[in-house]
Amino acid sequence: MKKITIAIDGHSSTGKSTMAKQLAKALGYIYVDTGAMYRAITLYAIQKGYIGQDIDKLDLLISDLPSIHLEFRYNTSLGYSEIYLNEVNVENKIRTLQVSSFVSQVSVIKEVRHKLVKLQKEMGAKKGLVMDGRDIGTVVFPDAQLKIFMTASMEIRATRRYKELLDRGADISYEEVLENVQQRDYLDSNREVSPLKKADDAVVLDNSYLSPEEQFQKALSLAQDRINTP
Ligand code: C5P
Repeated sequence: MKKITIAIDGHSSTGKSTMAKQLAKALGYIYVDTGAMYRAITLYAIQKGYIGQDIDKLDLLISDLPSIHLEFRYNTSLGYSEIYLNEVNVENKIRTLQVSSFVSQVSVIKEVRHKLVKLQKEMGAKKGLVMDGRDIGTVVFPDAQLKIFMTASMEIRATRRYKELLDRGADISYEEVLENVQQRDYLDSNREVSPLKKADDAVVLDNSYLSPEEQFQKALSLAQDRINTP
C-alpha cells in the first residue's frame, strides 16, 4: 500500500500529539513529536543555567548545539517513542510548566531550528510518518500528502493543559496555564523564523467541540483518502 507523509501543525494544547499518535498506530506509521525536540533543547539550556529568570546566556547554548544528541527510542510497552537527551530519557522532564515557559524563547533561535529541521527531514526520508509541530507542513515537509492544522478556543486549550498538569501532580493555577498558552501562541505565531501558520493546502480541524474519537475518525478518513488516491 502507498505510504504517505502526514504533517500536523497547530496551536499549543490542541491535542496534536494525542491524535498524531493514534493515527500513526492505526496506519502502522512512525510518529515524531517535534515539540519534544524543542523542549529537550530547552531542558538542556535550563540544566546548564543558560536560561532562567533574568538569565540569558543563549549564545552558550548555540555553541553547545553540535554536541547535543537527541534521539527517539521506541518503548514497546507504551507503544510510542520517547525522547532521549544525551542518552538520558527526558520524556517526563520536558513536560513541566518551567520548560513550557522558556521553550518559545529557545525555538526562535535560528541555529536551533536549523539543527532540528535537518534531523526531522532525515527522519521523514522514507515516508510512512506522522509528524506534529508548528512548521511541519510549511517548512519541514512542504510536499506532505496530508496536512492538518489543529486549533481550538484558547480557554478550552488552557483547561485541557491545566487538567493534564494537575494529573501529573503539578502545583499551578489555571491562570498561570492560560497565560502560558496565550504567550506561546503569540511568540510562535509572530517569530521571524518559521512562524506558526496554516499551510495553504492544510485542512483545518477545530476541535473545540469535537470528542477525541470524532476528531480521530475525521483525520483517519482524510489519511485513507490520500493513501487511496493514485
Ligand atoms: O508541541 P509542543 O507544545 O510540545 O511544543 C512546544 C514548543 O516548541 C512550541 O510552543 C514551540 O515554541 C516549539 N515548537 C516549534 N516548532 C515545532 C514544534 C514545536 O517551534 N515544529
